Amino acid sequence: MQRDEIYQLLKQKYGFDEFRPGQYQVISDLLAGQDVLAVLPTGTGKSLIYQFAGTLLPGLVVVISPLISLMQDQVAHLNYQGEKQVAALTSQVDFQTRQLTLRQLPQLKFLFVSPEMLKQPAVLTAIQRVKLALLVVDEAHCISTWGPDFRPDYLGLGQLKQQLGSPLTLMLTATATAQVRQDIVQQLQVPQAQQVIYSMNRPNIYLAVANLSNEADKRERLRQLLTTAATPAIVYFSSKKQTELIAEWLRSTTNLRVAAYHAGLSAEDRFKIQQQYMTGQLDVICATSAFGMGLNKADVRLVIHYHLPTTLADYVQEIGRAGRDGQQSLAVLLYAPGDEQLVRNLNELTMASANQIQADYQRFQQQQPVPDELAAVLQFYWEHHYSVSQVVDIFDARQRQKQRELQQLLAYIQTADCRRAILMS
Ligand code: ADP
Ligand code: MG
Repeated sequence: MQRDEIYQLLKQKYGFDEFRPGQYQVISDLLAGQDVLAVLPTGTGKSLIYQFAGTLLPGLVVVISPLISLMQDQVAHLNYQGEKQVAALTSQVDFQTRQLTLRQLPQLKFLFVSPEMLKQPAVLTAIQRVKLALLVVDEAHCISTWGPDFRPDYLGLGQLKQQLGSPLTLMLTATATAQVRQDIVQQLQVPQAQQVIYSMNRPNIYLAVANLSNEADKRERLRQLLTTAATPAIVYFSSKKQTELIAEWLRSTTNLRVAAYHAGLSAEDRFKIQQQYMTGQLDVICATSAFGMGLNKADVRLVIHYHLPTTLADYVQEIGRAGRDGQQSLAVLLYAPGDEQLVRNLNELTMASANQIQADYQRFQQQQPVPDELAAVLQFYWEHHYSVSQVVDIFDARQRQKQRELQQLLAYIQTADCRRAILMS
């Protein structure tokens, strides 16, 4: 297909005059039969890439996505665009609908599926029977045990890809660290994939750090920002409890419409709050990092970090939720001396020590119980014949990495130079 035909289609079918940076390159690589790992900032329009290329390639497009809300969002969006042959398979879809979807598979164009569903033999066999145009791994960084969004479910996708006959594969993410990229390519077994990488330069997001002396000052500054700067806003916290406490405090001391959002809420509540925020019925979300992945809201004006993010890469991803419409937006990090201790504690909590891992892996090998959060990872290492010392090395390296990441974060806060330059690097 010629370049001008592609642009014509963009205009006719999607109503856009221009591709966003990276979109055209990825689409033409895919049309040329190349696997692609696309690292494009949040809000670039990564979905358009698979919709566009998928429509032009014969066969079914299977999109693996980590969150049910993301899939629902995409299905609604595609339906709205007039794509009729779209379905999703998740744990929330009842058995009968699931059966129906599997029977109708040959007529479908887009199938959204959670990794756990794809592992089900009935689902896998049904997909094996149809011709695949494209396999899309959305939020592909979830496969990396290095990343904050690691999902054990994503491990083993490489094997599933093989069972599907290694179709053309597109991996999408906004997280660009070399480590994560290497992990994605290695685990999905696509060493020859083209890597299309665009870093985040969002000149419309103004970056600021507020150095405050204590917790009370932080609260006060938070309230001041929320009542004077433009909303809608997202305020990020590192604890669920704090999202609720501060949301309550803001409700009682301002006129703002505020809700708390974290992984401890029921799926219905989370969905409801997200919808209210999307439709302008809320001004402020006090959230943990559970909020925002794939959020399709263009007019977020303000992102405040009440606590430090765990890494600069997370920070970039989280502030990237502001100003997707290109309008002037603001990202403020509130810092009081000692805040980094929270990140340290969190790192220690989420990161087993090398000693502990050694013990846990040995226990696992002897089929004794291990902590829930480690079971899937250890299972993976075990299936792939990792020795105890290899696993210990991995965790050692991760711990050192965490320390480096914290140093980078503090450098960002303390710098007198251009903050944007630090983020971009
Ligand atoms: P991402 O997954 O990269 O974060 P999305 O796929 O959710 O981003 O798309 C974000 C928004 O960008 C959507 O509203 C989409 O319609 C819009 N969009 C996609 N491509 C273009 C384009 N070429 N021009 C203008 N808007 C676009
Ligand atoms: Mg997306």
